Amino acid sequence: MDEVGEFEKLLRGYRDFRKKSSGEHSTSRQILPEIQSPAFMIISCSDSRVVPEFIFGTSPGEALVLRNVANIVPPYDTDAPYQGVAAALEFGILALSIKHVVIMGHHGCGGITAYLQKEREGLSQDDAIGKWVGLLADAEQHGPDKDKTDLPRQTRMEHAAITYSLENLRSFPYIAKKEKAGDLHLHGMWFDIRTLDLLVYNKHENIFYPVIIAP
Ligand SMILES: [Zn+2]
Repeated sequence: MDEVGEFEKLLRGYRDFRKKSSGEHSTSRQILPEIQSPAFMIISCSDSRVVPEFIFGTSPGEALVLRNVANIVPPYDTDAPYQGVAAALEFGILALSIKHVVIMGHHGCGGITAYLQKEREGLSQDDAIGKWVGLLADAEQHGPDKDKTDLPRQTRMEHAAITYSLENLRSFPYIAKKEKAGDLHLHGMWFDIRTLDLLVYNKHENIFYPVIIAP
């Protein structure tokens, strides 16, 4: 398929969406809620295979989704000039009063691979991905799998990136306050794109457990 044909796929998809959602009596209000009040905020990787709405089956209006390379929440820092993640957190937690925030990592994360490669090659100040994933430099030693040498280092880092971001969420004063009051719940998840298995982080045991699927 040439590049024009590739782009046409988006327009074809849009036309199909309009046909399906524009029955004789249907209105946009039946497809999209007029006011959003999502219960969940999901911070996942930009990876094109890790699509939270697809995996969790949420409808429009149910989940506020933020995606970036390696699903990283940087630490609270009011001096940072541009704060896309912090702005989305404020919007979701303070403006929309979301009660559940999920950090969702995944198997085969290219951002984590970039981190491990950059660690070997040295970070470049001109390299946006290198600087971004360089945030994870302290994550591994505090991660949940630091003693599990049987796990590939890539997987240990993917898990550590999730727990690192959870801890950074707690560095935001309003998040720490709401969590302590029981008004906000923070969750960590790791999705295996090979098997479709989902692991959920248990903070008290500092371990990821698989979600059991009934036979
Ligand atoms: Zn990724």
